Amino acid sequence: MAGPALGSAPAKRWRLGLRHLRWIFLPSKKVAVIGGGNTAVEEALYLTHHADHVTLVHRRDTLRAERILQDRLFANPKITVLWDHAVEEVLGTGKPEVVCGLRLRNTKDDSEQTLDVDGVFVAIGHSPNTAPFRETLDCDSEGYIVTTPGSTKTSVSGVFAAGDVQDKKFRQAITAAGTGCMAALEAEHLLAGLS
Ligand SMILES: Cc1cc2nc3c(=O)[nH]c(=O)nc-3n(C[C@H](O)[C@H](O)[C@H](O)COP(=O)(O)OP(=O)(O)OC[C@H]3O[C@@H](n4cnc5c(N)ncnc54)[C@H](O)[C@@H]3O)c2cc1C
Repeated sequence: MAGPALGSAPAKRWRLGLRHLRWIFLPSKKVAVIGGGNTAVEEALYLTHHADHVTLVHRRDTLRAERILQDRLFANPKITVLWDHAVEEVLGTGKPEVVCGLRLRNTKDDSEQTLDVDGVFVAIGHSPNTAPFRETLDCDSEGYIVTTPGSTKTSVSGVFAAGDVQDKKFRQAITAAGTGCMAALEAEHLLAGLS
């Protein structure tokens, strides 16, 4: 890569977010959230405002989510946690096809069951879309581009990284815009110094 550049590519999200929720603002719906981390638990809690019942499907028997989130989850009467189950298939019906259930496998004894749901929300983490840069720029073990603290500088002089590709904590539009501004200013300063 030559010259100053703003490196920004999206984090691939393994969840369907709020923009996919238009159809579900009906209190009689049952939905499933897949996952066991903070994202899954937050999503399950949020969905209780818009669905009749939420089943959190997790392939293990403990959650990775923070304790405070777990406490809220377990205290919510609209949420059931289905431990030790992995999704084998999302079942659909009708034309156009809509979700009607999940085929689940028990991870301990391999038995199968079907869960009737009207919607599925996959929340099994984030994978930053940094593959094209991993050979060139220093990335951490999860694939996020490493930047100098308080800066958008990467391991290659003149290449700046902003947004979700370098931020595994906040991953918000406003923080992405903020680091985008930082990257633009740093690129400008670099160019000014070069000219
Ligand atoms: C469902 C959902 C709901 C969200 N809700 C909120 C919210 O309510 N509030 C909030 O603050 N944030 C929210 N976010 C997070 C917010 O959208 C992101 O943090 C923000 O968009 C990250 O900005 P970014 O520029 O880093 O990445 P992106 O917005 O993903 O932009 C990356 C850009 O890079 C381009 N690109 C990718 N690969 C290449 C390539 N090889 N070459 C050239 N271009 C490439 C893409 O086309 C895209 O235009 C939400 C995200 C999702 C998915």
